[in-house]
Amino acid sequence: MAEVDLHLHTTESDGRLTPADLVKLVAKRGLKTVAVTDHDVTTGLELAWEAAAEYPWLNIIPGIELSTDIPGGEIHILGYHINYKDTYLQSRLERFQASRIGRAQEMVRLLATLGMHLEWERVKEIAGPGSIGRPHIAQAMVEKGYVSLPREAFDKYLGRNGPAYAEREKQTPEEAVQLILRVGGIPVLAHPTHVDDLELALSTLKDAGLEGMEVYYAEYDQDTIERLARIAQRHNLLPCGGSDYHALGIPGEHLPGEMGPPMEVVRLLNDLAMARTDG
Ligand code: AMP
Ligand code: FE
Ligand code: FE
Ligand code: ZN
Repeated sequence: MAEVDLHLHTTESDGRLTPADLVKLVAKRGLKTVAVTDHDVTTGLELAWEAAAEYPWLNIIPGIELSTDIPGGEIHILGYHINYKDTYLQSRLERFQASRIGRAQEMVRLLATLGMHLEWERVKEIAGPGSIGRPHIAQAMVEKGYVSLPREAFDKYLGRNGPAYAEREKQTPEEAVQLILRVGGIPVLAHPTHVDDLELALSTLKDAGLEGMEVYYAEYDQDTIERLARIAQRHNLLPCGGSDYHALGIPGEHLPGEMGPPMEVVRLLNDLAMARTDG
């Protein structure tokens, strides 16, 4: 068990635990520092801090995970210690939310042309108040019996090359890195094994200001972690990581704190954030 987990989702995006329930769980599991990193929203942060008042030893870093697009693929950029109240950031996030809604509606329409009829009201209900995403559509498809698992929905229909895939508002990874820097945050490349040409991506993103990369990611075996740790060191990137917990309740799901970076990384993230507010 790790003391640190810097990658966690809540009902404010596509996680299934409310921020309060997530905080309860991570406290029970003995975590000392966590980051809440919902997709393209920050509305879970204050809810998490409120819940954490009961656990004074628990430190919650404000985070986010931004979805970005590259030709033929996508890259997720995490941001830590962001000034989430920044009005420019929030106006960008509102645009992403609006485009996520339009895109989800388009995917529901495409599914209907394939003979799979979902009720839009039900998809919205599953998504709840926060950021709507493909996992919510996948869940609605499972409920209707069109697929047996969310994974099957992604593999057959909702994946980038699937027949029901629709684009959301595009943002490049470089733009996401710059947005996070602009609001005093530390930009970190998420789950780097999803990136096709990692060396190429890292050289471009380092130029844009990338400061970290996930290394201690719960899905990774020891060999992968060691390989990524060497790459992070070579590019002078902070080795971050966590469980990417969504509370899906599926077999084999990694729980908060199963994997995470050493506490030293938390101190280095703090130092970077402090240097930024002083300067
Ligand atoms: P979206 O934010 O709508 O683009 O959906 C992306 C999210 O879907 C990711 O952050 C994951 O949580 C989830 N996801 C991506 N690929 C899969 C997959 N193959 N099976 C299940 N969930 C996935
Ligand atoms: Fe997700
Ligand atoms: Fe991600
Ligand atoms: Zn994630």
